[in-house]
Amino acid sequence: MSEDRPDLADRRFDVGVIGAGSAAEALVRELDGSGLAIVVFEPHLVGGECPFLACMPSKAMLHDASSGTSWAEMVERRDTIVEHRDDSAHAEELVELGATLVRQRAQIVGPGVVRANGLDVQVRHLVIATGSTENSLDIDGIDTCSDLVWTSDDALSTTEQPERLLIVGAGVIGAECSFIYSGFGAEVTLVHPGDRVMDRTAPGVSNVLSASLDRAGVNVRCGERAVSIRRDGDCAVVTLSGGEQLTVDRVLVAIGRHANTVSLGLETIGVDGSEPLPLEPSGRVRSEGSLWAIGDVSGHGQYTHLANHHARVVADHLVGTQTRGYDDVTQVGCVFSKPPIIEVGPSWSDLQGDDDVVASGLDLGDFPRATTDELEDGHLWLAARRSTGCLVAASGIGPKFDELVHAIVFAVDGAIPVARLQMSMQPFPTIGEILGPILRDLHAQLTAP
Ligand SMILES: Cc1cc2nc3c(=O)[nH]c(=O)nc-3n(C[C@H](O)[C@H](O)[C@H](O)COP(=O)(O)OP(=O)(O)OC[C@H]3O[C@@H](n4cnc5c(N)ncnc54)[C@H](O)[C@@H]3O)c2cc1C
Repeated sequence: MSEDRPDLADRRFDVGVIGAGSAAEALVRELDGSGLAIVVFEPHLVGGECPFLACMPSKAMLHDASSGTSWAEMVERRDTIVEHRDDSAHAEELVELGATLVRQRAQIVGPGVVRANGLDVQVRHLVIATGSTENSLDIDGIDTCSDLVWTSDDALSTTEQPERLLIVGAGVIGAECSFIYSGFGAEVTLVHPGDRVMDRTAPGVSNVLSASLDRAGVNVRCGERAVSIRRDGDCAVVTLSGGEQLTVDRVLVAIGRHANTVSLGLETIGVDGSEPLPLEPSGRVRSEGSLWAIGDVSGHGQYTHLANHHARVVADHLVGTQTRGYDDVTQVGCVFSKPPIIEVGPSWSDLQGDDDVVASGLDLGDFPRATTDELEDGHLWLAARRSTGCLVAASGIGPKFDELVHAIVFAVDGAIPVARLQMSMQPFPTIGEILGPILRDLHAQLTAP
């Protein structure tokens, strides 16, 4: 059943889900066949960010930006891939799986009670799956230029092709959009207050990324902030902290995202919505026995595969299997820059100063496959724990690394000792050959007297 105001008044549900993005969709799929009565609330797109405004359009645009496709052709292909932001297929799937879909914003009004469009719905378990929202840039003049300032949603759904784009923030979205827009010929400036791009990754990763952005013609301005903005006709004039003024057509703000916990009515059940949700490893909110959080809102990473993982964990608990936790597997992420960046486990910066950790890094440089295929450079950094003798983290950038990452994830999740891993063969000539010397160096460090 999918209606704006379905007949819910006398119905009690086993599971109420607020938000219908990737996390909620995965949860409903996982609970298929469980016999649990599920109600899902969503005022906007069923499917949420990933298929319509985030992962899918960004990957389609990145592909076309480096394949000689024209802007107009790209817009057509992208909009076909994102189903012209029509969520009917997603809504139908939820309903076919037996969920009741309420196309309304929902708010918690007390323990086990959710209000949508004036109706109170009783739920036994409540799952918050409300996603995240981009942080806004609080600088002088921003209110007068709102039509010139883009969020990532705007940058990935627009039909306009700016000639000059200023991107504020050199994280995942800033990096991906730099390659997209420079690939289509825009003059891109990337402003970042830190001293290097993607500054939580290993320095070797930042170096390769900087060189690649440079080759793409992106003007990277590290150590600078945007401090004010004013309108000049159809353009924005942005003043940087160093005093320079840049005139651009659009400004993309990409300075991180925060969990959507405010205005949900969490205070009515004793949870402070202005703070990160206090989650148990099971995904349950500590203060409330039947309240769960999955996906971006959980504060446990912002990736679709994580949202899917959370859904699997919480589904297990809802059907009583109760075997898994959010941290049972290592976190992994890819940034689809050119070349792609991989991050496994804690970041390079998180591990600095940890005496239990040994690390080793290597450039892809002259490995045979890089030479035969004339590949761009890369760098891989691996870290292992002395106490376990196992890999704990990886940070890398390089061609095909988004596929190489799976080998590292299995090694970390399988807790295979470095002593054993360094004996394995990598086929010749593959990108994976880079693993061999790094593992052998880690082994030498781990066994040094
Ligand atoms: C530009 C960009 C590129 C990305 N690329 C990748 C990628 O390549 N790979 C990857 O793994 N991840 C990527 N991500 C991250 C990924 O999109 C998110 O991690 C994922 O969409 C999170 O899913 P979710 O269900 O938690 O949230 P969402 O998809 O945001 O869904 C949350 C839903 O909750 C709804 N909602 C909010 N409040 C209420 C309320 N009160 N009542 C009812 N409904 C409500 C919202 O309308 C929304 O539809 C990208 C993100 C961005 C921004």
